[in-house]
Amino acid sequence: MNNAYDCLVVGCGLAGAVISRELAEREGKKVLIIEKRSHIGGNTYDFFNEDGILVHKYGPHIFHTNNKRVYDYISRFTEWRDYSHEVLANLHGKLIPVPFNLNSLNMTFNTEKAEMLKKKLVSVYGMGTRLTIAQLRSETDPDLQELADFVYNNVFLYYTQKQWGVTPENIDPSVIARVPVLISQDNRYFQDEYQGMPSDGYTSLFEKLLDNPNIHLRVNTDANELFEINENNMFFEGKPFNGTIIYTGALDEFFNCKFGRLPYRTLDFLFETHDMTWYQPKGTVNYTVDEPFTRITEFKHLTGQNICEKTTIMKEYPKAYAGTEDEIPYYAILNEENLGLYKKYEQLTEKFSNFYLLGRLAEYKYYNMDAIIERALILADKIIYDEKGND
Ligand code: FAD
Ligand code: UDP
Repeated sequence: MNNAYDCLVVGCGLAGAVISRELAEREGKKVLIIEKRSHIGGNTYDFFNEDGILVHKYGPHIFHTNNKRVYDYISRFTEWRDYSHEVLANLHGKLIPVPFNLNSLNMTFNTEKAEMLKKKLVSVYGMGTRLTIAQLRSETDPDLQELADFVYNNVFLYYTQKQWGVTPENIDPSVIARVPVLISQDNRYFQDEYQGMPSDGYTSLFEKLLDNPNIHLRVNTDANELFEINENNMFFEGKPFNGTIIYTGALDEFFNCKFGRLPYRTLDFLFETHDMTWYQPKGTVNYTVDEPFTRITEFKHLTGQNICEKTTIMKEYPKAYAGTEDEIPYYAILNEENLGLYKKYEQLTEKFSNFYLLGRLAEYKYYNMDAIIERALILADKIIYDEKGND
């Protein structure tokens, strides 16, 4: 029975779906994808709610990339709605663009002061520069220090405390660096060359991605219950499996968390549908100085849906991940201790040359969608190359 498949893929998010398509299409491999949720798409899954509004079940997803191979590849499976995401920070009712930029500066300080700060920023860094808040905070000029304090206290501090449970100094610098300070008037949240939303949504994109006769899918199935490992062999449904296994789930769970759970942050999502055309002026408003939730996203801005009577919004409430059935591990907490624990699990996989870790969970990384697609394409290249080499 197991020999019916050349390849087993655990998880039907972007990582699992892209690698499955590559192996099925380029090499004619028979692939079985095992997905524990009831649907495809992983965290990008979207659906029409009871009011006919297309919503993202696991948080807002906006596609953006500078990688042409990734863009060209994924564009095979979707048309694009031209959309540049814009985010506003709500400072006690006043809305300013995030990333903090020269427009935010003008809205925050009086004209004379804003002009003086702008001149200093441009002369120190140059027009068009992206800096991190840490860079700005290390400035010695007192005016720039004051600006850095303002941005830190009003954009980063409380939002980060809500999101991560600690202050910005206590999370990996690469996480805060995702949101720069921009010496420009560009109000877009992402500056990537290619950005947009799949015209018919992500679930529709996934349906096309998985539309290959060599791809088989089992949903509502926890793959970890089907695998067993002894010293040197992997068993699937009780029989040795020597084909390729791609694992995109949480790595600790594959080993029954035997060294302890990998720490994550999770989110509670609260959907609200309102009897109004629009709830807020842009796709996302970040609550950076008050409220217990981090941000509100209004889906119609993202999808361009033309439904006038109602609108659906989503609030995100971050919390520690305890590993209960109803929780999903969304964000790996990157620090030395956790990466050390991850390494211990990773070492357990090293003796299995047919077992590959791929994706945001399996690699314990903070990847955007484009990075996942790129990783999947590169891994497919490698698997195919290695097999050809062994022919
Ligand atoms: P996932 O999408 O998590 O897929 C993994 C799949 O494996 C899941 O379906 C899971 O159910 C399944 N699985 C796990 N364990 C098992 C098991 N034991 N058996 C069977 N199945 C299993 N990226 C962007 O580029 N732009 C954005 O705007 C953006 N917004 C985001 C917002 C939020 C709130 C979050 C959390 C992430 C966001 N991302 C965004 C990142 C994006 O979600 C990820 O890059 C992408 O979904 C990762 O794909 P993946 O396949 O690695 O993981
Ligand atoms: N961040 C912040 N204030 C903001 C936006 C982001 O402090 O208004 C910080 C916060 O720590 C967050 C990180 O920057 O976790 C990365 O933000 P991003 O929007 O990239 O997070 P994601 O969309 O992946 O949740």
